[in-house]
Amino acid sequence: MRRYLLLFVLFLAACSQNTIAQEKRWLKQQITRLSSNSFHGRGYVNKGGEKAAAFIQKHFRELGVLPFDTDSTYLQKYFMAVNTFPGNMYLRLNKKELTPGADYLVDAGSTPYHTEKIKLKTVDLKKVKDSASWAKVKRQFKPHRGYLLKNSDTVSKYMKLSIRSFANEFLENVFIVPKHGKLTWIVRQDTIPATILYVEDTVMPKRVTKAAITIDSKFEPNFKNFNVLGYIPGTEKPDSFIVFTAHYDHLGRMGRHTIFPGAHDNASGTALVLYLAKYFTEHPQKYSVAFMLFSGEEAGLIGSKHYAKSPVFPLEQIRFVVNLDMTGDATNGITVVNADTRKKEFSLLNRINLAKAYVPRLNERTQTRNSDHYSFSEAGVPAIFIYGNGTKPYYHDVFDVAKELSLENIDGLSRLLVDFTRELSNGK
Ligand SMILES: [Zn+2]
Repeated sequence: MRRYLLLFVLFLAACSQNTIAQEKRWLKQQITRLSSNSFHGRGYVNKGGEKAAAFIQKHFRELGVLPFDTDSTYLQKYFMAVNTFPGNMYLRLNKKELTPGADYLVDAGSTPYHTEKIKLKTVDLKKVKDSASWAKVKRQFKPHRGYLLKNSDTVSKYMKLSIRSFANEFLENVFIVPKHGKLTWIVRQDTIPATILYVEDTVMPKRVTKAAITIDSKFEPNFKNFNVLGYIPGTEKPDSFIVFTAHYDHLGRMGRHTIFPGAHDNASGTALVLYLAKYFTEHPQKYSVAFMLFSGEEAGLIGSKHYAKSPVFPLEQIRFVVNLDMTGDATNGITVVNADTRKKEFSLLNRINLAKAYVPRLNERTQTRNSDHYSFSEAGVPAIFIYGNGTKPYYHDVFDVAKELSLENIDGLSRLLVDFTRELSNGK
């Protein structure tokens, strides 16, 4: 008898291992898809973002997630300004052609620039220590020229000025700015009159004197963008909502040959929200559970800000928001932003995790403005932001690809969120 019992326990363990593997495989599939070239970095070039929205919408429809809209669309449309790079991108320093993305990044607010040959004057900014020395150095710059700026970090350190705000003063100049360490790209909603190229210093030729540059950029004052919204009605209190949010957008493309895949940021959170949608359609809760996939996050939380201003049901009906951003690797556990102001919910998460050991550790962090939970916090809605504590440094660069993601403990995180939702729905 005992032997049968043991066999049965082993069988159960094998089954649960199996579902964990299945769950991870499913999540990996969605992340790989969303960060593949066909979504163009889920940004503003080649309709990358729009394709991602359609992909999410298709999932919602197949799963049986309900739309809020009476026209049965899951899409909430809005418009935003954005500077884009749909065309050519070429940089040659002396005789060395550099690779966009890996070797250099263009400032995201840069104006277009085309030249077969421009002379570069090297200006060393190491002597900048105060406004007097800064004024002296600045006198060297003239409009419509090319400059190589050495030791540019003094300007931010002593003058509290970014190279980009400084470059704003000089019409149609080109600035080549050597950078040491990781190159990190962003999205800009405004433009500057200059063109700035941040170049990885280890790939720069010695004594750079000339450059060939082609930068095509296009400012879109009214770019059409979409949030994707859906929900599973609650069985007992359908007017109370637990909301899972994640931004599906990323940085898109920087020219014809460079894509920012954004696997960790935030195909991973998007996939996790889709997984929760899948789970809760099969296991409805007492409260309604809503799923909101936002766009425009990388440009400054534009999609979620728009949502907070134009919600599809009263914000007061939201019991709690859990925002998921960068959840593709939780090797060292997770961090919970707003743990201090949402003590009750944070201790509930901790209690569940201590009992079930889903993830190695829950770290606490105070409010941050760097993801979509912030738009809800600002509107007075209780919200936390969860991200994974992973092991890879790839962030806002061309190396944030699906195969670099361990997905370590992501299954544990999904279970933690399921249990948490159930407890909240039970009035905890
Ligand atoms: Zn993000």
